[in-house]
Amino acid sequence: RAKKLGQSSYQIFNPSMQHLASQQLQLENDLHRAIERKELQLHYQPIFSLQTQTIEGFECLARWNHPHRGVISPSEFIPLAEETGSIVPLGIWVLQEACRQMKDWQHQFPNSAPKTIGVNVSGKQILQSDFVAQIEHILHETKIDPHKLKLEITESVLIKNTEAVLAVLHQLQELGIKFSLDDFGTGYSSLSYLHQFPFTTLKIDRSFINSIDSNSEKLGIVRAIVALAGTLGMEVVAEGIETGTQLAHLKVLKCQYGQGYLFSKPVSSTVAETSIFQNEAYSRTVTAKHPTAH
Ligand code: C2E
Ligand code: MG
Ligand code: MG
Ligand code: MG
Repeated sequence: RAKKLGQSSYQIFNPSMQHLASQQLQLENDLHRAIERKELQLHYQPIFSLQTQTIEGFECLARWNHPHRGVISPSEFIPLAEETGSIVPLGIWVLQEACRQMKDWQHQFPNSAPKTIGVNVSGKQILQSDFVAQIEHILHETKIDPHKLKLEITESVLIKNTEAVLAVLHQLQELGIKFSLDDFGTGYSSLSYLHQFPFTTLKIDRSFINSIDSNSEKLGIVRAIVALAGTLGMEVVAEGIETGTQLAHLKVLKCQYGQGYLFSKPVSSTVAETSIFQNEAYSRTVTAKHPTAH
């Protein structure tokens, strides 16, 4: 069979591939120790109310400061962590750090702390038998209001183990935790998921937003998603807003919330604190001008 496919198929494993494989192996080993070595860090990206332009919450995004390779993106190390099982300790660390940070912000900004903190969780994490107990423990330790914790889950997680995931989400819902359906529109989700699962928020994937101003079909899809969310009583967040034109379109469509480079890239906690501080002052002027906006 290999012969039929031609010459190239003889080189199934060439030296450069071997190099790649050993690099991958090295990265796996490194990732395993990254938490202990404190090489992981959370960055925070604000989510804005599009109507008032004030901060509603933050999404936590993991960063890995690798000692030799510099900053590695989560799109590279999260899939690796899922494959090797490191996602379990990594995910617990992210949840702890996110809740600890939220607690800290509540202390620093008693009247203007962000309302929610979003944490991305993967399917492997959710299906760990002690996932609910771990979250309960973290909530107990940090004493943050469970309503402030929003777990971001992608459609693909729901498709694989629908019943098992649903059971866990219901337990977490009872604790008061909220859920966002992340990257909405990219998966294969049937619309039936939306009312079957306890999501409070829909996050419209960036791929719909980035061509909203040039592609009337995308605009139509976004309009339909916003309407659907409204019908189901869900909040809606547009991901990846990069231009003023995109923002203008979303405001016309009455999309409630947005996130993207136009407002802010994911930033360190120190930089996030500066924006919470500025937001506090800004909120006061917004409230003074439009007393009903809040
Ligand atoms: P996501 O949850 O959909 O996060 C949004 C991604 O879009 C982030 O990439 C963010 O930096 C990026 N982004 C935000 N605004 C813009 C924009 O205006 N333009 C563009 N081009 N990109 C924008 P990031 O930080 O590289 O994370 C990638 C993915 O990795 C996340 O997608 C999430 O699925 C996953 N991830 C990140 N942190 C964690 C984590 O702690 N746990 C798990 N399980 N997954 C994580
Ligand atoms: Mg997310
Ligand atoms: Mg997303
Ligand atoms: Mg994503």
